[in-house]
Amino acid sequence: MAAALGRAARLREKKVLLLEAAARKAPAEPRGGFANRVSAVTPGSAALLGDLGAWDHICSMRVKPFRRMQVWDACSEAMIIFDKENLEDMGYIIENDVIMSALTKQLDAMSDRVEVLYRTRASGYTWLLPHQISDSSPWVQIDLADGRRLRTKLLIGADGQNSMVRKAAGIQAVQYQYDQSAVVATLHLSEATENNVAWQRFLPSGPIALLPLSDTVSSLVWSTSHEHASQLQNMDEESFVDSVNSAFWSNANHSDFIDTAGSLFRSAVSLLMPSGTATRQLPPSVAKVDPMSRAVFPLGLGHATEYVQHRVALIGDAAHRVHPLAGQGVNMGFGDVACLAHHLSAAAFNGKDLGSLTHLLQYERERQRYNLSIMAAIDLLKRLYSTSVAPFVLLRTWGLQATNAVSPVKEQIMAFASK
Ligand SMILES: Cc1cc2nc3c(=O)[nH]c(=O)nc-3n(C[C@H](O)[C@H](O)[C@H](O)COP(=O)(O)OP(=O)(O)OC[C@H]3O[C@@H](n4cnc5c(N)ncnc54)[C@H](O)[C@@H]3O)c2cc1C
Repeated sequence: MAAALGRAARLREKKVLLLEAAARKAPAEPRGGFANRVSAVTPGSAALLGDLGAWDHICSMRVKPFRRMQVWDACSEAMIIFDKENLEDMGYIIENDVIMSALTKQLDAMSDRVEVLYRTRASGYTWLLPHQISDSSPWVQIDLADGRRLRTKLLIGADGQNSMVRKAAGIQAVQYQYDQSAVVATLHLSEATENNVAWQRFLPSGPIALLPLSDTVSSLVWSTSHEHASQLQNMDEESFVDSVNSAFWSNANHSDFIDTAGSLFRSAVSLLMPSGTATRQLPPSVAKVDPMSRAVFPLGLGHATEYVQHRVALIGDAAHRVHPLAGQGVNMGFGDVACLAHHLSAAAFNGKDLGSLTHLLQYERERQRYNLSIMAAIDLLKRLYSTSVAPFVLLRTWGLQATNAVSPVKEQIMAFASK
């Protein structure tokens, strides 16, 4: 967000200050091992990073495009394959540290317009009381943990899922914890391949995803019960690798009834839509896990009922938190950045006060409409796939097979999720 504001020509007269509680990160080292926190970045987010001048830095460090995505059910033969013609990139797997390094370089290059204070924690915010607020009421006051006090006409809360800005502004949030944690790890494949497919299998305990990082290395995101996640984190490396391979390959959750019903439906679909059935590929097998790369993150859903108030806007996980099964969390945040930067530029061009609700509400309307539909779809998928009860398995098997066969529907899903 800071880089977007710093680059906006119409905001040239404004001062931007970024407060970051953490230390400045050392630049990502592309020749070293892969970090365990990665993101699937959509073409829309890549375009934003390009506009901010960060994409070239990312490409000069490390990025792995993927061209195909295969998603399948552990309880049946149902699967869906997304791919693009002309070998276009469907998205990119990028280490979070690489994205941060690239943006930090850009912030360094605009230090005359954007000041960054690392190791600086905001400890309190003060607004005028609601009845004192009018569009012209002046400032938000920010108290820093080191005793300093700042004032701003617009405070952007990009402070994550436990956002203090959101709480201090009295913005309500719908929040709940899922019954799952995500285990992440860096995995080495048994053989070098093109490795340009993102794989995800829905197990009854949660989805497991293998995201390509290089010809021989992939990143794991395995959502499962808290107890199983802790077992996976603590077991020896060999047992861990066996568990990952078995999660991708085992058919222990299949039943004859679902397999027969699924195959009858698939035959009917292939008669009606002969071109709509893509061939299943087999996922790569895993040989090794990077020592110390395993980590566990509890998962939850959260949504702020309002994204803006007088002189305040929330972006990213401060406004919305989703399950990682669709790889959308940070992409929704990048979408917020593009939208808010656009509305603030327009406000500045028209000589308006940046903290005024009039244009902040436009940002809220636009982003809530998009984010809520993505969140609802992700939550539904999480629930639909968290069961091995036959009627639900059959319903989702037929649904997935039908969706896989109808190209326009798949294209629409891809277009929506690529933003
Ligand atoms: C296992 C896992 C896998 C994921 N995979 C993907 C994926 O493939 N694709 C995807 O799009 N998303 C993914 N996500 C989601 C993504 O990681 C988050 O949506 C994203 O990191 C949120 O970014 P953010 O900047 O909004 O919040 P955060 O990353 O939480 O950053 C908040 C920042 O605010 C700072 N801060 C907080 N409080 C203060 C304070 N008081 N003063 C100063 N600074 C403060 C913190 O230091 C931090 O730097 C995944 C999430 C998980 C858990």
